[in-house]
Amino acid sequence: MRRVSIFGATGSIGQNTLDLIRRAPDAYHVVALTGGANVERLAADARALGAEIAVTAFEDRLPELRAALDGSGVDAAAGAGALLEAADRPADWIMSAIVGSAGLAPGLRALRHGTTLALANKESLVCAGPLLMAEARAQGATVLPVDSEHSAVFQALRGEDMNAVDKITITASGGGLRDWPLEALDGATPAQAGTHPNWDMGRRITIDSASMFNKAMELIETHEFFGLPPDRIDTVIHPQSIVHALVRFRDGATMAHLGAPDMRHAIGFALNWPERRDLPVALLDLAETGRLDFRAPDLARYPALRLAHRVMEAGGLAGAAFNAAKEAALDLFIDGRIRFTDMAPLVATVLDRLATEDRLEAATMTLDMVQQTDRVARDTARAVAAQGRHA
Ligand code: NAD
Ligand code: MG
Repeated sequence: MRRVSIFGATGSIGQNTLDLIRRAPDAYHVVALTGGANVERLAADARALGAEIAVTAFEDRLPELRAALDGSGVDAAAGAGALLEAADRPADWIMSAIVGSAGLAPGLRALRHGTTLALANKESLVCAGPLLMAEARAQGATVLPVDSEHSAVFQALRGEDMNAVDKITITASGGGLRDWPLEALDGATPAQAGTHPNWDMGRRITIDSASMFNKAMELIETHEFFGLPPDRIDTVIHPQSIVHALVRFRDGATMAHLGAPDMRHAIGFALNWPERRDLPVALLDLAETGRLDFRAPDLARYPALRLAHRVMEAGGLAGAAFNAAKEAALDLFIDGRIRFTDMAPLVATVLDRLATEDRLEAATMTLDMVQQTDRVARDTARAVAAQGRHA
C-alpha cells in the first residue's frame, strides 16, 4: 500500500487527486490531508479516507476542525508549523497542491525526507527552483511535475538524453480574453477575466491564464525544472488545449503530448508513476476534433511573457519577487483597485525597484531569503499601486 499525503487537499488539484485515490481505495493509505478555511470539506474527506491527520493552515480554525473530527480517530492540527510536521510524517508520495508561495516550505520539508514530490504548486519552482531541485538531488528524491504542460514535457522526455533537446514549447490557450480587441482589455472585470474556454480551474489561476501570468510562471517553471536556457523555451497559442507541450530534439524530431484538458491526467500520471494505469479521462478522437490551431502570442497583449524571460535571465531572487508581485497585483485587480492591464506594468516596476536596491541577487539561496523577498515584493507592489506609479 502506498502511503500518500495531500497538501492543499480541499482545492481544485487536491479534490481531483482525492477523486483518483477514492477509485482505488485499497492501493493507498492516506497519511495527511491539509487545507485552509474550508474545514468542513477537509474533515469530511479525512473521515471518509481514514487519514491519520487533518491540518488546516489557519490556527483560528482548529476548534472547528477538532469538533468536525470528533470521534473519527483522525488527529487535528493547525498552523504553518503543523503543516511542516505533517510533511515530516513518513510517506511515499506527497501531492504539493497548496496555492501560492505558502506551498514552498512543506514541499521542501517533504523532500528532506526523500519523499517523492508530485508538484502542482508551480510557485515553489518559480520562487525557489534552485533550492528545491538541490534538495531533491541531495536526498535522491524524485520531483514529478503535475502542471499539465510540464507533465507533458516530462513524458516526452522519458528515456531521452537532455543533451539531445533543442527546444521546449509549452502551449497556452490564450485565456478568456484571447479574442477581445486590445483596446478593450483596460476595461476587463475580474468576472470576465475569470472565465476560461477549456479548463475548469480555481478563479485566481483562471485570471492568470487570461493575463498569461500563468504561462509566464510556467516558462520559469520549465527553465527551473528541465534546466534549459531561456532562449530555448517558448510558448505557442493553441486554442483547443489538446497539445500540452512539444519537445524538439537536435535531429529535428518533435515529440508532442496530446490529451483531453483534464488535470486528472497529469495528477494520475504522477500518482501511478513509474507505471501507467487506466484513468477516468476522456479519450481523444482526432477525427472528431478535426483541427488543431497554433499561433504566436502577441507580446503587446501578453506583456507577462516578456517579464518571464527577464526573470529567467536574471535568476537569483527575481522569481520570488516576480511571483509575490504578481500575487499582489492579482489581489489588487480582484479588489478593483487596479485595471487588468495595470498588473504587468506594476510587476515590472516592482522588479525594477528591487533590482535597483540590489535585492534580487543571491549567490546561494535560502528559504529565509526567498520568504523575505516575497514580503518585500508584496509590500512594494502595494505601495507602488497606492501611489498610482504602476501605469
Ligand atoms: P485552489 O485555490 O483550488 O486550492 C488551493 C489549496 O491550498 C486549498 O486546499 C487551500 O485550502 C489551500 N491553501 C490556500 N491558502 C493556503 C495557505 N496560506 N497555506 C496553506 N494552504 C493554503 O488551487 P488549485 O487550483 O488547486 O491550485 C493549486 C496549485 O496547483 C497552484 O499552485 C496552481 O498554480 C497549481 N495548478 C493548478 C491547476 C488547476 O487546474 N487548478 C493546474 C496546474 C497547476
Ligand atoms: Mg499549466
